[in-house]
Amino acid sequence: MLLAHRIRIDANATQRDYFARAAGTARRVWNWALAEWRRQIAQGHKPNAMALKKQFNAIKYLDPAWLDANGTPWLRSIHRDAHAQPFANLARAWSRYFDQRRAGQRAHSPRFKKKGRCVDSFYLANDKFRLEGRVAVLPKVGRVVLCEALRWPGKIQGASVAREAGHWFLSVQVEVPEQAALRRRTGDAITGVDLGVSSVATLSSGEKFTAPRPLQGALRRLRIRSRRLSCKLESAKTSIGIAGRVPKGTRLPASKNRTKGAQALARLQARIARVRRDFTHKLTTRLCRESQAVVIEDLNVKGMLANSRLSRAIADVGFYEVRRQLQYKALRYGTRIVLADRWYPSSRLCSNCGIRNGELVLRERTWTCASCGTHHDRDVNAAINLQRLATDALAAQTALPEASLAATPGTAAALEPAAGGKVTPVRHEHGQQDGSGQEEDAAHICSRLR
Ligand SMILES: [Zn+2]
Repeated sequence: MLLAHRIRIDANATQRDYFARAAGTARRVWNWALAEWRRQIAQGHKPNAMALKKQFNAIKYLDPAWLDANGTPWLRSIHRDAHAQPFANLARAWSRYFDQRRAGQRAHSPRFKKKGRCVDSFYLANDKFRLEGRVAVLPKVGRVVLCEALRWPGKIQGASVAREAGHWFLSVQVEVPEQAALRRRTGDAITGVDLGVSSVATLSSGEKFTAPRPLQGALRRLRIRSRRLSCKLESAKTSIGIAGRVPKGTRLPASKNRTKGAQALARLQARIARVRRDFTHKLTTRLCRESQAVVIEDLNVKGMLANSRLSRAIADVGFYEVRRQLQYKALRYGTRIVLADRWYPSSRLCSNCGIRNGELVLRERTWTCASCGTHHDRDVNAAINLQRLATDALAAQTALPEASLAATPGTAAALEPAAGGKVTPVRHEHGQQDGSGQEEDAAHICSRLR
């Protein structure tokens, strides 16, 4: 199982300087490669990453654009991996773009990276660095102190160094042996989870989780810091005599105060992200640890975000991230993730008598069933319905899974269809940033309506 561990680096000034230069190199090489790729396409050629890299290697120590003021090639001071990897990344980005286009999804072609606007990062191949407890020995920089030792045993596949709000992080990809990656479950419940805005997750047991909604809390401070930064940008613009839009390619003079303002804003954004991440990790771990099956709705998050009145609250909770984490953690705990069809009327069915009630507006938090008279909490009722859905689907199989399933990850898709329903395995792929880079299958159930 491929897992990534992201560790903060306690870097000194020299190391930070090197990291910034290496990340800058990676960005500049990416931009060079992308420009060249586009140029070749425009001329009717078929570019590929290997040929581009060869072409770059031929000029990288000679071309005046890649020499410093003394005429020496500055690329020599940066480790090779930092400027070799962008070619592979670019090839991946193009093929992802074409895959998405072919699948009829919305996609955008690879873009140029802009300093200060992109994630600063660079790559390290697994044979170029080593870890000794809380010390990493990196090429060109030597020993750097880490805030934590690597958590998992296994074969290291590679690493990248990236900056987030002034801190540098080492993200190590490890191929963890199955036995070490598996975790013991503490419960065998079948849990229905209703995701919502007022309480982010309501379990079929009736328990409700309120998300910290970090963005909501930080909005005021965010506005203040953004305004301060924008004042500094304005004054930078007037100092070089620009009014209105900044023409493309202009470089605004960066003052000390502007840099400080930008850093303060970035620190706040990073804090918001951290609070959110902490909450979703704790929630999803608990769900996977305590249940043999977790049922969630296959929400149309993109569509929900299009609702301008709700989008901020929805984005603040991070529904998609909840689902992504559930899906990779399920493999480690041997938990089954069941996705209920997005048209399953979970909030409208009465969990007591099974009668389908009329449309509910979002405002109605509680309702009373017209036929049996039960008073329902909207979210708890939906969670119970989702739980039922999975219980039925699992009962359609001969036996409930008791042992851990994680040893055979593919089996999650082998769920039998509930009578009258259909099961479509959905593929879910996620990035290498955190969690695993594996593909997972989850059962997709469209159940009969009762
Ligand atoms: Zn009823």
